[in-house]
Amino acid sequence: MKAWALEKPGQISSRPLHLLEKPNPRPGAGEIRVRVSACGVCRTDLHLVEGDLPVRSRGVVPGHEIVGTVDEIGAGANRFAGGERVGIAWLRHTCGTCKWCAKGLENLCPSARFTGWDEDGGYAEYALVREDFAYTIPRSYDDIHAAPLLCAGIIGYRALQKAQVPPGGTLGLFGFGGSAHIAAQIALAQNIEVHVRTRSSAARALALELGAASADLPEAPPPVHLDSAILFAPVGDLVPVALEFLGPGGILAVAGIHLSAIPSLDYQRHLFNERELRSVTANTRSDAQDFLDIAAHIPLKISTVRFPFDEAPDALAALSSGMITGAAVIEL
Ligand SMILES: [Zn+2]
Ligand SMILES: [Zn+2]
Repeated sequence: MKAWALEKPGQISSRPLHLLEKPNPRPGAGEIRVRVSACGVCRTDLHLVEGDLPVRSRGVVPGHEIVGTVDEIGAGANRFAGGERVGIAWLRHTCGTCKWCAKGLENLCPSARFTGWDEDGGYAEYALVREDFAYTIPRSYDDIHAAPLLCAGIIGYRALQKAQVPPGGTLGLFGFGGSAHIAAQIALAQNIEVHVRTRSSAARALALELGAASADLPEAPPPVHLDSAILFAPVGDLVPVALEFLGPGGILAVAGIHLSAIPSLDYQRHLFNERELRSVTANTRSDAQDFLDIAAHIPLKISTVRFPFDEAPDALAALSSGMITGAAVIEL
């Protein structure tokens, strides 16, 4: 099969991904093989390729927003039939027995393994996954529009849960890419007032079109105190900015896996009055299932920019330079 592999991280302009011919993977016990039809391009892929995240498997194939059809079934696997459409997401293995797994926090499992980081992902013609870590995709989305649901959507949903916006409350979104534009629509469907703060004028236009109450540059104070905020941009400088816009008791959730350095915080200005700063780490399978159930009922408008498989590095370069409004998706 054809696959894009990462031997050594480097700036995206130096083209660190290489197109290789690899043997088609064969599913082991309990696994399914998926013939990939679309794979979303997540900012985490960019962090991995550029070395912000350590390489955990040399020559790994990135990509963890995979949509395709089951084309081979390993011994003992019986959850899906051949030809069925499934999705593969970031989380692909947990131990099931540690104290975090036992508490329903498998996203924090120390033995967790991730698609496109520990094991090969979807920038390839085929991908493997344990059947209990694969998902049925809501029928109302075609493959291209379903791909961003599998990380951007799921993580945006977990971030929204962690931000604990009160009913009818106000929510600030800092950065407005693939994940934020989905989280915004879920929040709006719950009658939450959404204020978007981003540098990209195209993203601000998209935010207003989707129903945001305001869209402005990151440092522009929103017209009201925010009950909650989510930081999607990987920019630590925005942590104090967002904290300062929160009202008493407000919560700021940081959605990304990587953030540049956070400047020093001033207790009175940024944290006093019981404001809280929280991280969001991956997701559980039940977050994913809850989100996909919601996506089946709310007609989410997924804004995509398509790239042919042979241009996967161009998709990452476009994401890096802020040229993507919505989510980039590689088409096979
Ligand atoms: Zn565990
Ligand atoms: Zn992701």
